[in-house]
Amino acid sequence: MGMSALAGSSRVGEALAWETSIVRDPEMARSGRCACGGVRFTTSLPLRPVVNCHCDRCRRITGHFMAATGCDPTGLYLDADRTLRWYEADPGVWYGFCGDCGSTLFWRADGVPDWISIAAGTLDPPTGLVTDSAWWTTTASDYHRLDPSLENYDREPGSSAER
Ligand SMILES: [Zn+2]
Ligand SMILES: [Zn+2]
Repeated sequence: MGMSALAGSSRVGEALAWETSIVRDPEMARSGRCACGGVRFTTSLPLRPVVNCHCDRCRRITGHFMAATGCDPTGLYLDADRTLRWYEADPGVWYGFCGDCGSTLFWRADGVPDWISIAAGTLDPPTGLVTDSAWWTTTASDYHRLDPSLENYDREPGSSAER
């Protein structure tokens, strides 16, 4: 299903070696986990500001909206992935979640191999991140009040196709 690189156990050793070297650079390194701890991860690359994705898929899967940061997947290390499951919401579009506790964790698309979204709420605070925009605002549910202080887009910026 195209996720073998992320789930590979070789990353664990790499992550441990890396962890010892990045503790001195807390701006770059962040850790996170699902609610039960079956999935634990660390990141080694700068993370994008948080985007609230209100697309229909994200709304249903998260139960509200996907508040997502992310990076190139080479910067994501899975320190534990025992309970990590991937749901193919549309062909080639994957949501990573914990099969035990149900936490939403990741988003990936086969067509965007250099990107993985990370559900911002799974990061251990303080994240040092800010929310800067909202996407697919027209499919936010009617109960939701959009934040006028964000950059609000009715679709994904730079994308004409729904995906
Ligand atoms: Zn869990
Ligand atoms: Zn979405």
